[in-house]
Amino acid sequence: MSKRRTYLQMEGIDFSILEHSFPARMAAYNLKARKVAIVFGNTIHLYGATTKEFLENTAWVKHELCHIRQYKQYGFWGFIARYLFESLRSGYYNNRFEVEARAAEHL
Ligand SMILES: [Zn+2]
Repeated sequence: MSKRRTYLQMEGIDFSILEHSFPARMAAYNLKARKVAIVFGNTIHLYGATTKEFLENTAWVKHELCHIRQYKQYGFWGFIARYLFESLRSGYYNNRFEVEARAAEHL
């Protein structure tokens, strides 16, 4: 399977999308999800979905762009530490970063 990276700019944010990503595959396994996107810095890692399929889902794109803004706000490790702390305290769904990203889907 060939990895493909696409560079884009949307909502004033420079980012890239990486298909067939290993960390996204691990996340899919853990979440028991068929399609997964996971953000590290300004890269959206996909597993089970193509870049085209992802980009056609506006709400999904807005959700992941919100996570990129969260990384920019707190810095790479600052965001990861806060995200993990929030997940331990509140779980995945109620994690405030996920709450914010879900709200961004409809903006
Ligand atoms: Zn999310």
